[in-house]
Amino acid sequence: MGFTIHGGFMRLRHLAMALSNLPPHPQRDASLEQYATEGDFAARWIAEIVQRGDLEEETRVVDLGAGNGILGIGCLLAGAESVLLVEQDAKCVHDYDGVEWLIGDVGEWSGTEVDLIIMNPPWGVQIAMADRPFLEGAFCSTARVIYLLHSAKATHIESLAKSLDWKGEVVLSGLFRLPAQYDHHRSHEGMTEVAVWRFIRN
Ligand code: SAH
Repeated sequence: MGFTIHGGFMRLRHLAMALSNLPPHPQRDASLEQYATEGDFAARWIAEIVQRGDLEEETRVVDLGAGNGILGIGCLLAGAESVLLVEQDAKCVHDYDGVEWLIGDVGEWSGTEVDLIIMNPPWGVQIAMADRPFLEGAFCSTARVIYLLHSAKATHIESLAKSLDWKGEVVLSGLFRLPAQYDHHRSHEGMTEVAVWRFIRN
């Protein structure tokens, strides 16, 4: 299985391996809700983005709450023109050719010079509304398409998007492993259901 980018064929397995080999997210700061995406799931997600025609040679990508940058770096490997990784926790940051980091709060990002936003932000489970600056930052940016991973249980996303003139659909779902420090709200052996949303302007 794979997908075509710039006329070349990329195997999903190779992308998944490259992403799995990134320095792991330390996932130490529970207050920042650090649930890292695994390589296999990230690769499936990126393939979905490419197949939908949302990621091309001239696409400028911003990854909000990037962690180790797995989602943004996935977009880079799939051919994005530029990738900016926005992350508050400096411990996640590592050198990676071809990406830029903005180390700071998501609110420090300008919201401009972006075509595609990809994000797995805090879900607002540990700290109520922790996801709001991410959702609002994305919906008020100049992006033309937004991909968002969130808890499948979240019920506020669609209405918030609609109020800011975006429409969305769930394009991928799956199970996510929660790190040990979050296991007080685990549903099934530390796994929780997630949904990936794709938003475009109304
Ligand atoms: N996108 C990565 C990490 C997801 S966890 C992945 O999918 O693996 C969410 C990330 O958001 C964490 O790395 C956390 O440190 C970061 N974060 C939380 N609050 C933030 C804020 N206000 N501004 C910037 N980053 C934040």
